[in-house]
Amino acid sequence: MSFTSLGLMPALLVRLQQLKYLQPTAVQRQTIATVLDGKDVLAAAQTGTGKTAAFSLPVLQILLTQGSKVAPNCVRALVLVPTRELAEQVHQSIRTYLGELPLRTAVAYGGVSINPQMMQLRRGVDVLVATPGRLLDLYQQNAVRFHQMQILVLDEADRMLDLGFAKELNALFSLMPQKRQTLLFSATFSGPIRTLAGGLLHEPVRIDV
Ligand code: AMP
Repeated sequence: MSFTSLGLMPALLVRLQQLKYLQPTAVQRQTIATVLDGKDVLAAAQTGTGKTAAFSLPVLQILLTQGSKVAPNCVRALVLVPTRELAEQVHQSIRTYLGELPLRTAVAYGGVSINPQMMQLRRGVDVLVATPGRLLDLYQQNAVRFHQMQILVLDEADRMLDLGFAKELNALFSLMPQKRQTLLFSATFSGPIRTLAGGLLHEPVRIDV
């Protein structure tokens, strides 16, 4: 199976060729068309399986295809991650997949000054990659608004719970539009992850690699 047969747009296929991604990985084969189809996804995937591209590529394509404008301080897609290292890594991957394609992206995490992050969000961003605690701070400072948000991705959801982010996550979810597409990636599926998924996902397609 090729990236072309998964329904990816020419502009992204060109990027994948340039990056020498020749074949989709298992999680990419199972995820990309499903996300493009607008469905919710519950995926069991470890680091190193290609999960970042599995969710990023279709999310970017949806945003690029719609071409709608983002309002000040708004986000169209949000990727929540447990740590600043993963935030940087996922944001960098998204920038790489985009190349020169016209989407605005930003990354936000704690432990560094909040002001530059507030500035970056002022004009609105198409994709924000963030850790839960800092995102809640940004919301409380009126730096980010969720009413334009269409897609929510939780990456390494199990680690977010392990790190004690349940309260922040639930506070954030209560602020987000109900009508949205949600993708949840986790290496493990404990009781608390299943509960979280049950409350967040609507008839998800299950993916196990
Ligand atoms: P991840 O599991 O998302 O952290 O990705 C692991 C590594 O695999 C990253 O360095 C990606 O750049 C790389 N990668 C992801 N998908 C592919 C692919 N289809 N072909 C080649 N490399 C890939």
